[in-house]
Amino acid sequence: MKNDRSWTEIDLTNFKDNLIELKKFFHPQADFMQIVKADAYGHGAFQIAKKAIECGAVSLGVANLQEGLLLRYQGIKIPIVILSPSLENEIEQILEYDLTPTISTIDFAAKLNKSGKCKIHINIDTGMGRSGFHYKEAFENINKILNFKNIEIDGIFSHFSSVEEDIEFTKLQSDRFEEVLSKLYLKPKYIHISNSSGVVTFPNKYTNLVRLGLLSYGIYPNTEMKNKVNLKSIMTFKSRISQIKSANKNDSIGYNRTFIVPENMEYAILPVGYADGYDFLLSNKGKVVINDQVCNIVGKVSMDMIAVDISKVTKPEVGDEAILLGDSNENISVESLTSLYDGLSYELLSQIGRRAKRYYKENGKIIDSSPLLRREFMPKDFSDNKLGNIIESAIEQRLQSKEIANLVHEDILKRLFAEKDKDIQYRHNFKHTIKFEESDEFPNYFLTSTNLSFSKKLQNDYFSVACAKTEADLEKYFLRNDVEYRWLLDNSIDLEEMFFNVTSVKVNDIELYNEMKIADGCIEIKCYHPDLKSLVGKEVKFSISTKTYYPKSSHQLSVYIIEMTQGVDISFESDLKNVEAVPIFSGKSKFPKILKSKNKISISTDKDEWIFPTSGVVFVY
Ligand SMILES: *Cc1c(COP(=O)(O)O)cnc(C)c1O
Repeated sequence: MKNDRSWTEIDLTNFKDNLIELKKFFHPQADFMQIVKADAYGHGAFQIAKKAIECGAVSLGVANLQEGLLLRYQGIKIPIVILSPSLENEIEQILEYDLTPTISTIDFAAKLNKSGKCKIHINIDTGMGRSGFHYKEAFENINKILNFKNIEIDGIFSHFSSVEEDIEFTKLQSDRFEEVLSKLYLKPKYIHISNSSGVVTFPNKYTNLVRLGLLSYGIYPNTEMKNKVNLKSIMTFKSRISQIKSANKNDSIGYNRTFIVPENMEYAILPVGYADGYDFLLSNKGKVVINDQVCNIVGKVSMDMIAVDISKVTKPEVGDEAILLGDSNENISVESLTSLYDGLSYELLSQIGRRAKRYYKENGKIIDSSPLLRREFMPKDFSDNKLGNIIESAIEQRLQSKEIANLVHEDILKRLFAEKDKDIQYRHNFKHTIKFEESDEFPNYFLTSTNLSFSKKLQNDYFSVACAKTEADLEKYFLRNDVEYRWLLDNSIDLEEMFFNVTSVKVNDIELYNEMKIADGCIEIKCYHPDLKSLVGKEVKFSISTKTYYPKSSHQLSVYIIEMTQGVDISFESDLKNVEAVPIFSGKSKFPKILKSKNKISISTDKDEWIFPTSGVVFVY
């Protein structure tokens, strides 16, 4: 966050609390669908979906095919309902990715039926006047769909148009829906009509699914709702003071001189503007909180900057945090800000989420982040160029060192494209164990033994193990493909044999000879054996064990995966209490299994799962 111009913090614990609060309003047998359209109203569809599933969501609601595909690509397995009408040319992917379309026309249902087996939800228009079968024609159309052999009706639903303010019309819509349902011989698994406000203001007993959106994000559609349900907002949008300036009476601030300075004053420039989702209509109206003081926006919101009156702030400084939106102060809640320009909470939230980097919090701690201008890799939707950008930004985010990021990025591209015809080198069955023990000789350090094994094609009749004290020194070993193991030695430790050495190196069952060289800030250990010659080009099993020391004061240890790897198992053993593992995985699934037992914590994936380079685990103790 230190380096971000603006960012959002998404509090997943508050989100969970909101779900618990909303569950009090629907009957215990009912299930809920989490609405995650528009990137979960700007909160991040994937993270919200994961949390919602953890809290019992039986399905997810998205707006269109693309949003559904993205969640599938990210590894979400539960049913995903596409709420808006789909297009014919999308049918193939709907089937391929097991998405659930909503049906509003017989035409579309017929095309779907011809293309393959599919579950659907039927949308009935009971007064919303948008998509869906008109309620008067619903019965005959449902009957037609029942004749389509490939189609399974999983749900029937309708949508309220004015549930927050017009109870009478809401009741009329509900009655119309119930009447359609009463004629059916067979009820589908799910019957649903309520959005999140409907859950609170218009509870009913004849539906068994609710669709939670706005309220689950802790946003009230109006002030009355505040008396009925107790929610917590989950998004905070922040930036920092980038410059402090003084203005004299009658100076003007910003485009078109809409703000004329009434008295000599100090003001601050914040590096966010309407391109970051801070609405242009907040010009001369918006409020920002700096050091607990509410400050006014002065002048027009520019594309990338706003000016803020900081005369009330004591000792403002460049770098001070500015909260632009969130519930720490009533003045900057989404509801208050949008009321200043008669805007819509849904709109402000989704536009802010689009550009800012997101940090996810649980129990007050940052647990994950997603990058600026998120672009996800879609299997059927990339050019080399686009793929390049995606890989680069993903890696950059993970490694936070631009240099290494570039290097690895080039390496992947080379493997994927330039060396298309050659064999791709990768590792299988990657198993890495790190063990901390007390050391009598060096009580401030853990005696550390590591064991690494994996299978890979042997490239030469030797390979090397490298160790250095700085990332810069170690970096050259990332370029060399004859180095199979690299260790970053803590800076407090001398680069000597007694502090880092290999205890055993094997290829298959051959114990290799090794030779140590210490030079240029690095330890390099060459491992070789005459019998390796005949194994070059063959798939072999590498086993490398080392002994080293690790400072107790570090409190964290990182393990990186720097080659394409299939199947990973990394474990950390010690007598320490409270060890946590934070996996940072790039690959199809970013969430490996974490298993904890008394003295051991391990991170693993399926045997077949591909892991991209620059993945890794940080063990925190
Ligand atoms: C967006 C949407 C919802 C969620 O509505 P909220 O007011 O945000 O709770 C529910 N159902 C449908 C069909 C939607 O499109």
